[in-house]
Amino acid sequence: MERTMRTPIIAGNWKLNKTISESVALTTALKTLVVDETDVEIIVAPPFTALAAVNDVIVNSNIHLAAQDVYSEDSGAFTGEVSAPMLKDVGCGYVIIGHSERRQYFGETNESVNQKAKAALAHDLKPIICVGEQLEEREAGRTEAVIEDHVTGGIVGLSDTELLSCVIAYEPVWAIGTGKTATPDQAQEVHNFIRGLLTKAYAVEVASQVCIQYGGSVKPENATELMSQPDVDGALVGGASLEAESFAQIVKMAISS
Ligand code: PEP
Repeated sequence: MERTMRTPIIAGNWKLNKTISESVALTTALKTLVVDETDVEIIVAPPFTALAAVNDVIVNSNIHLAAQDVYSEDSGAFTGEVSAPMLKDVGCGYVIIGHSERRQYFGETNESVNQKAKAALAHDLKPIICVGEQLEEREAGRTEAVIEDHVTGGIVGLSDTELLSCVIAYEPVWAIGTGKTATPDQAQEVHNFIRGLLTKAYAVEVASQVCIQYGGSVKPENATELMSQPDVDGALVGGASLEAESFAQIVKMAISS
């Protein structure tokens, strides 16, 4: 199946940045800059506190809302957590799950990623499941083993329909926030490997429709080259999503054919 079957997705992960007023200003500027963009799914992931205000700005626009995490239970005595029904209620269509910073600093595991993905899917939220190797793992020749572990562990037990609602984000940890980017060939190699893993577990018609984003120091200077690779279906953008102009430029570079 051709890549043209997959609409590229450009998502901005704002991490622990932006107050409510800053979030509204950024989103308002972005909305104007990308108003004419079609054939690309545009997503912003502000901090929890700004989700409602950003949703008010993007309502009836071509920008979609994501949260940066979700808890696996719907409600109960889980102080500090936010559930899938709550995210749906505030206007989210997507949720980032298993970002390397959550794996590294907050004890996220493949098992919790899988539970969170299932909770999100049960409430009609699309999970953006992040996978990626650390520098030592790449240098030790373990990239494929780590990616296989993250991908298969994250999607275990998902039906065809559920997998089709998921996005996989390949984010080599050594490229996140470091200014080092995987080369287009390195990205394509891992994306192709991920596509192969999906094809082993699901019918080719299903596996070939799953969007696989690249993330790791994507900026206007390198986005076109990365996204021109056949299995790179868009980008998960950190730093460059904090400015409307640079994020909008990356959106305009999204390649769908
Ligand atoms: C990210 O946070 O997912 C990310 C890719 O960050 P950056 O673009 O800043 O490397």
